[in-house]
Amino acid sequence: MIFAAAVHDYEHTGTTNNFHIQTRSDSAILYNDRSILESHHVSAAYRLLQDDDEMNIFYNLSKDDWRELRALVVEVVLATDMSCHFQQVKHMKTFLQQPEGIDKPKALSLLLHTADISHPAKTWDLHHRWTLSLLEEFFRQGDKEAELGLPFSPLCDRKSTMVAQSQIGFIDFIVVPTFTVLTDMTEKVVSPLIDEASNSLTGFRCSSLNSMSCEDAKWGSQRSSVSEGSPAENCSLLAVDLKNFKALWSEQVLQNRDRWKTQATKETEEKAIREVEEERAMQKATLMGQTEPIETETTEGKRDKRETQDKLNSPDEGETGERIKKHEGERTQHGDTKSPKDNETENKDQQLKLGK
Ligand SMILES: [Zn+2]
Repeated sequence: MIFAAAVHDYEHTGTTNNFHIQTRSDSAILYNDRSILESHHVSAAYRLLQDDDEMNIFYNLSKDDWRELRALVVEVVLATDMSCHFQQVKHMKTFLQQPEGIDKPKALSLLLHTADISHPAKTWDLHHRWTLSLLEEFFRQGDKEAELGLPFSPLCDRKSTMVAQSQIGFIDFIVVPTFTVLTDMTEKVVSPLIDEASNSLTGFRCSSLNSMSCEDAKWGSQRSSVSEGSPAENCSLLAVDLKNFKALWSEQVLQNRDRWKTQATKETEEKAIREVEEERAMQKATLMGQTEPIETETTEGKRDKRETQDKLNSPDEGETGERIKKHEGERTQHGDTKSPKDNETENKDQQLKLGK
C-alpha cells in the first residue's frame, strides 16, 4: 500500500489525461487514451525497479509474491484515475449491502483514492495550500491550452475560475461521499476484528491485519479502557474508534467548507462587479464604433477558432464548453442565480478534475 501510494503520481506531467488526449502526446498514443497518466506512473516506477538492481526493493520476493504485489499495485494505482471515481464509489456501496466479505484490491483502491483526494479533510492551512497549488497547476495547463488554441478544460482558465465555489462542489459531491463509503467499508472490515479482539482479551493474539500501533491510532479519543501493561494494550484494534473517525473528518471538512462559503460570497460579488464593468466597457466600445472590443471578444474569437478544430475537440468537450457558455449567459441575465441542479451538472467535470 505504501509502495502504491509512493509511486501513484510518479513523473506526473502536471497536466490532465484529457490534455494528453487532446494534444495526442506520446503517452496518450502509448496507452491508447486510457488512464494515461496512471498507467505511466506504475509503468515508469516498475521500470526503475527492473532496470537497476540497486533500486529493486522487491529483489527478495518470491515469484508468486512479486506477481501478487504487482497485480495489487497496478490495480490500486490505476484506480486513482478520477474517471473511475463514480463507478468505484457506486460499486463499493453495492458491495457493502451484500453479506460477503470485501474484495481486498477494491478495499485498498478505495483507501488510496480517498487519501488522494483527502486534503479537504486536513486543517485549513494545509487544505488551502494544496488547493492553491493544484489550481496553479490547472491554470498552467489553461495557459498551454490557450497557446494551442484549445478550449479551456474545467478550472483551467485563471481569469474565470471560481476557486471557492469549485471547492464547495468538490467537497459536497466527491469528498464527502467518498469518505462516507470509506468509513462504512472500514466499519465492515474492522468491526468484526475489534469484536474478536475484545472477546479474547486474555491470551490475546494480534491479528496480522493490524499493522497500526496504539501510538499511531491517535484518532481514538476514547483510548482503550484496558489498564496499562495488559496484552491488549499493544493492539491498536482496541484503540480504533470508528465513530470518532467519522466525527473527526466530517467536522474538519465542514469547517473548511464554511471558510470556502465565506470566500465564495466574496468571489460571486467580485465576479458580478467584473461582469458589470466588462458590460459597460463593451457598451462604451460599441458606442465609440469599435469593432474589436476587449476581453470577451478575444475569448469568443479563440472559441470560434477552436471550434473549427473539430478533430481536436471531442463531442463531450464541445458540449461542456457550450453548457458553460450558456450558463454564463444565464448568470448575466439573472444575476447569478442558479439552482443547485444546474450547479450539479455544470460542476461535475470540475469536481472530478479536482481529484488528482
Ligand atoms: Zn495523487
